[in-house]
Amino acid sequence: MKIIGITGGIGSGKSTFCGFLAAMGVPVFECDSQVKRLYKEDTEFAKWVAENILEETFSGELSLKRLSYVVFSHPEKLAALEEQVFKRLTPRLEAWIASQNTPAVVIESAILNKVPEIAALCGTIVEVTSEKAMERAAARDGVSIGAINKRAQVQQRFDADIIIRNDGSLEELHEEAKNFYNLYCK
Ligand code: ATP
Repeated sequence: MKIIGITGGIGSGKSTFCGFLAAMGVPVFECDSQVKRLYKEDTEFAKWVAENILEETFSGELSLKRLSYVVFSHPEKLAALEEQVFKRLTPRLEAWIASQNTPAVVIESAILNKVPEIAALCGTIVEVTSEKAMERAAARDGVSIGAINKRAQVQQRFDADIIIRNDGSLEELHEEAKNFYNLYCK
C-alpha cells in the first residue's frame, strides 16, 4: 500500500485537494480532526492539557479556541503539547493504516515536518502551495490577512517530493487531483 503524506501551509488548499482524492475513493487520515477527536475521547489526556498547558482545573471539556490562543503565544507550551499529541496520534494512525485495503492512503497534516515518526511512514510527500493562500484562508475564516499571517509564522516549510501549485481555479485543482490519482493512487 502506498502511503502519501499531504502537507501545505494555511489556506494552501491541502484539505480541498485531499477532499478530491477522498471523493475518488482514497482514504484520508486528517491529522487535524483526529487530534480534535483525541481531546474528546482521551479524557486523561484532556485533563493533562487543561492542567499543564491551560493551567486550569479540568471541567470535563477543553476549549480548543483558548488552547490555540495559549499555545500560539507560548512556543514552549506548543512544543510540550505537540510532543504529547503525536505520542498518542501515531499509534492511532498506524492502526488506521493497518485497517485499510486500498492501493493508496493519504495522511493530511499541516505540520508533517514536525513529526518525523509520521513523515517516515510516508513513501511520498506532497506539498500544496498557493500564492493566494493567505487571502483564501482569511476569506474562509472571516478574519484579516494579518491574523492568518500570524498563525502561518509558526508553520514551517517541508522538503516535499512533489509540489502541487494551487494558484488557479478549483476546477484546475480538481484536474491536478485526477492526474495525481491516476499516477500515484492506483
Ligand atoms: P488550513 O490548513 O488553514 O485548513 P488548507 O490548506 O486545508 O488550509 P483549504 O481549506 O483546502 O486549505 O483551502 C482554503 C480556502 O481556499 C477554502 O475556502 C477553499 O475552498 C479555498 N480554495 C482552495 N483552493 C482554491 C482554488 N483553487 N480556487 C478557489 N478557492 C480555493
